[in-house]
Amino acid sequence: MNNLFDLSGKRALITGSARGIGNLLASGLAAHGAEIVINDRRQERADAAAAALVAQGYRASGAAFDVTQSVQVAQAVAQIEETLGPIDILINNAGIQRRHPFTEFPEEEWDEVINVNQKGVFITSQQVAKYMMNRRRGKIINIGSMQSELGRKTITPYAASKGAVKMLTRGMCVELAEYNIQVNGIAPGYFATEMTEPLVKDEAFSSWLYQRTPAARWGRPEELIGAAVFLASSASDFVNGHLLFVDGGMLAAV
Ligand code: NDP
Repeated sequence: MNNLFDLSGKRALITGSARGIGNLLASGLAAHGAEIVINDRRQERADAAAAALVAQGYRASGAAFDVTQSVQVAQAVAQIEETLGPIDILINNAGIQRRHPFTEFPEEEWDEVINVNQKGVFITSQQVAKYMMNRRRGKIINIGSMQSELGRKTITPYAASKGAVKMLTRGMCVELAEYNIQVNGIAPGYFATEMTEPLVKDEAFSSWLYQRTPAARWGRPEELIGAAVFLASSASDFVNGHLLFVDGGMLAAV
């Protein structure tokens, strides 16, 4: 009972984790005992981020693949399973943002957003879940967003993709829970990262955010670690299909 949140002996694959929130979650899970597989589209960036964890005394390695490319994902997942060992935890974190008014949104950019944020979760989870089903254990954590529930001007494709992440989480839960695989999601509110840099720099947006968020501030990325450790650990073994909002209360308020 003392070790409910201990991740020792577990291996976590985190997509898009050479920087941003994914990289922070990698550090957080490593600090709780997990071995980390950093994913980036470029091997050298994945390896560099893994080396930074190793330099802190953690176990980590890099795996290059693009989450939108099913052949690459299948090969990389097979290689991790064969050379490193079981993937116990998958965090589907890779995501992109594009901003345009709805009627001017370029179709190619709609495709980019949907492919990474939505299809990438499907492809990567499908490959990893096959191995987890054979072992009858696993944790899959999908990174959603406030836009899993709320619309916002200029980012309709992003909202469509993150709404889909919520339903992918529930759909996968329904099929995988009986194999002792817990599929859940984390929906971050507004966190200051490279993705949100244009908004952080926008004083009007920040002052709107302070009024709109009960906690009256931007989230600090490290504040997502607790939710990730919970959903990756045995503390959440009967938590299925849940989207955990870490948003300073934004979704609770009008
Ligand atoms: P960043 O832009 O900082 O990082 C995104 C990561 O995803 C990068 O490492 C990027 O790699 C990677 N990536 C993009 N496309 C692919 C791909 N096709 N295959 C593999 N990796 C890819 O974003 P954040 O850290 O802010 O966001 C992480 C997640 O959190 C996203 O899913 C985002 O939607 C979500 N989120 C973020 C919020 C925030 O406030 N920042 C709020 C709510 C949700 P590369 O360096 O090559 O581009």
